[in-house]
Amino acid sequence: MQHPGAGAGADTDAGTGAEERDPALADFPERSPATRRWLFADQLGPHFLDRPDQPVLLVEAKAVFARRRFHRQKAHLVLSALRHRAAELGEQAHLHQVTTYAEALDRYDEPLSVCAPTTWSSRDFVLARPGLQVLAARGFVSTQGEFAGWAEGRGRRRLLMEDFYRDARRRRDVLMDGAQPLGGQWNYDAENREPPPRDGRSPAPEPWWPAEDEIDEQVRADLDRWEADGEVSFVGDDGPRLFPATREEALTRLHDFLTARLGVFGPHEDAMLAGERWLAHSLLSPAMNLGLLDPLEVVRAAEATARARAADGDPLPLNSVEGFVRQVMGWRDYIWHTYWHFGRPYRHANALRALEPVPDWMAELDDSAVDAACLSGVLGDLRRDGWVHHIPRLMVLGNYALQRGIDPRELTDWFHRTFVDGYDWVMVANIVGMSQHADGGALATKPYAAGGAYIDRMSDYCGRCPYDPRQRLGDAACPYTAGYWAFLERNRERLAGNQRMRRPLQGLDRLRDLPLVVEQEAARGTSAP
Ligand code: SF4
Repeated sequence: MQHPGAGAGADTDAGTGAEERDPALADFPERSPATRRWLFADQLGPHFLDRPDQPVLLVEAKAVFARRRFHRQKAHLVLSALRHRAAELGEQAHLHQVTTYAEALDRYDEPLSVCAPTTWSSRDFVLARPGLQVLAARGFVSTQGEFAGWAEGRGRRRLLMEDFYRDARRRRDVLMDGAQPLGGQWNYDAENREPPPRDGRSPAPEPWWPAEDEIDEQVRADLDRWEADGEVSFVGDDGPRLFPATREEALTRLHDFLTARLGVFGPHEDAMLAGERWLAHSLLSPAMNLGLLDPLEVVRAAEATARARAADGDPLPLNSVEGFVRQVMGWRDYIWHTYWHFGRPYRHANALRALEPVPDWMAELDDSAVDAACLSGVLGDLRRDGWVHHIPRLMVLGNYALQRGIDPRELTDWFHRTFVDGYDWVMVANIVGMSQHADGGALATKPYAAGGAYIDRMSDYCGRCPYDPRQRLGDAACPYTAGYWAFLERNRERLAGNQRMRRPLQGLDRLRDLPLVVEQEAARGTSAP
């Protein structure tokens, strides 16, 4: 969910960043080749080492899984990736299977170094450890300094993602033709909003899947045992591992995407099909977020593929290539930098005073409790795979939560735990800012609320649903259509100053049945629709 889908401008006010320099945002040194490197489980690629033979420390801390209910396949993927890295490195690495990080670190007298970890809490932890040198973060296209310089250079102007993305393209010389963007346009998103293919089939072939090995077998046995002993509890199904756990697997998936799927990625990237959940998506976010791939190498590989195909007289559509590049070096990096830029309090923002808990059926991924075809289908995919693409996240799950007033902090935690690619840095800005408008519009200029008509246009769900996307009252009233109007009415005053919400709010005044719709939706609440 690194991109908003509908192409609306996502803006931030420069003045909303933390006023004082937080120690977690210091200018850390770049390298420390002489120390043993502690690699967190999301720092597993070669670019987190300063030399190929650098001694490594890996820590498998059970307490991380015991504290919260993660998706079973997420726990499997993380442990599998960590153990595969240990096996690859052999004697070069120490793998400690312990309860807490501190337990492992206490065993070391030698100096250790670590690349700045990806959450506020883990940065606090590493900064408080004596003898542990903290280095600059890796795994993103733009550095912290580059983002800070770019933001500072904009003064009090709004921090537009699109401007950040263009700046990064220029700085890294990606899809450029001299000083101009390749093809003459920076952004081809307008060509990437087509509804699903009419035949209900994916435009791309079946993706490449990894094969499990004995390490996965051991992980599965350990997770079964931990669960049986009551040490941990998971949500979601167990299942074959779908996402890369090694660098080799990650490179294979990247190659599969670039050669077989990238060319058809763009036009239908916002579409949803009940029976084709992968469509032409890259499925690379879990590998990038584990650190198995460097996003800059991903972007460079996409550009190299596009240029080679063009030279062979068989060019890839630029809207597909640019759309993918924008997701990786635009949205992914922008979300990363805004996580830090907005500071520690950002996760607590709740501008729309949304206070409902995540309902049990959603927390448990119980799609069988839900009649609404879109919500049930997406929840079922999530239960089965731990992954759905950005539009089901934003416009089905997030849209439902926004309309029903679910607490954004609880929702952020739920997204973090139940998606295989979910991490704190990914989900805070995406959920609090992009999806739930809980920051009052600091990140996205308007709430991502939509009625059933949007889902009907962009999916094949409505034809198989007991509800009707055109109905807002009565037994067939679509929970999204009715929920949309109830949401607007509930937040009428809070959204009144937002220019982009003027017309939708005016629409409220034309609804004679509005009081009945509001009453109906209040009665529905967050019971499974
Ligand atoms: Fe979803 Fe409403 Fe369409 Fe049913 S009718 S699939 S609830 S949008």
